[in-house]
Parts: sequence; structure tokens; C-alpha cells
Amino acid sequence: MRRGLILGRFQPYHLGHHQVLKKIAKEVDEIIIGIGSAQKSHEIENPFTAGERVLMVSSALEEIGIKHYVIPIEDIQRNSLWVAHVKSMAPPFEIAYTNNPLVIELLQEAGVKVKKSPLFKRNNYSGTEIRRRMLAGDRWEHFVPEKVVEIIQAVDGVKRLLNIAQSDQI
Ligand code: NAD
Repeated sequence: MRRGLILGRFQPYHLGHHQVLKKIAKEVDEIIIGIGSAQKSHEIENPFTAGERVLMVSSALEEIGIKHYVIPIEDIQRNSLWVAHVKSMAPPFEIAYTNNPLVIELLQEAGVKVKKSPLFKRNNYSGTEIRRRMLAGDRWEHFVPEKVVEIIQAVDGVKRLLNIAQSDQI
């Protein structure tokens, strides 16, 4: 039994994440997805709640068809203790997949095997670019799986982002 962990904020889950998960699904028996910064929502950089992101990731993984666990993980103040915190929340895993330099450093210092995943169309498949498009009124729907479009529409996610981006200056 080989279990792999992937960590991300998934603000929102997009087709780059989806490509990575499809690739990981060929290498492990079960996938653990850690929803990072789980305490954050209703911010321009982090508009969606942990629960909404759980829905996005779960719906995408149903399509891939691999056994998986989606675990919200709140941030903690001490980076040096973060891997122990992640391990305390997630089922045991043998390997972690990430490209985030801080996450790689912390996992490797804690003795966890890390594999980098290739980046797919990073200019477009990027949470930053998708949120920018939502705010600008540009098309973003083709950068995320269809199920994720439905989830964002159901919670009125674009309106939320536009509302929180407003200035309180009259
Ligand atoms: P993210 O959603 O930006 O990315 C998740 C993963 O997907 C990354 O490995 C990224 O490289 C990959 N990815 C993104 N776009 C891709 C594309 N187009 N093609 C292929 N792969 C792509 O999330 P993140 O910022 O890496 O998440 C790390 C989480 O860990 C954050 O929530 C952070 O707060 C948390 N963290 C917390 C602590 C702490 O609490 N002390 C410490 C370290 C990290």
C-alpha cells in the first residue's frame, strides 16, 4: 500500500492541479490531499472556505477514480513544527508531491521523501491568474474542471470576490 500526499491551497482547484493528481494516481494506491491554509476564506488571495475547497477536490477525484482522503489543514505559527502538524492530521504517507520551495524544505528536513510534479500551463493554470480573471470579468471557467465551475457558481464565488475587493473609501 503506497499513499502519496499533495498539499495545496486550491484557491481554486484548477486544471494544473488536476493534471498533477492524474499523474500521481498512476504512481500510488491512495492519495491524500491536504487543503492548506484551511482557516482562510473571504480574502482576495483566499476567497473559498476549506469546505468549498473540499468539495472542489473531492468532485475532481471522483472523476479520476482513486481512493483518496481530503484533509483540511490549518496553518500554524511555527514552520519548524508544521510537518509534525500535517502528520498528526493525515493518514500515514510514504511520499509527498509539491513544487512549493518552503514545503519541499520543511518536508525534506523532516525526512519525508519529496517528488516535484511538472508544471502544466503555469501562466493560465494558476490560482492567481484565475482570481485576477474573476475580478476583471474575464473568462476563467475553461481553466478549472466543470464540476469546480458548478461549485463556484453555487456559492456565488465571483460575486464574493468582487465584494471583498471593494474599497471602503467613499
Ligand atoms: P497551491 O494551491 O498554490 O499549489 C499546490 C501545488 O500544486 C503546488 O505544489 C504547486 O506547485 C502545484 N501547482 C500549481 N499550479 C500548477 C500547474 N499549473 N501545474 C502543475 N502543478 C501546479 O498551494 P501551495 O501554496 O503550494 O500550498 C502550500 C500550503 O501549505 C499553503 O496553504 C501554506 O500555507 C501551507 N504551509 C503552511 C505552513 C505553516 O502553517 N507553518 C508552512 C508551509 C506551508
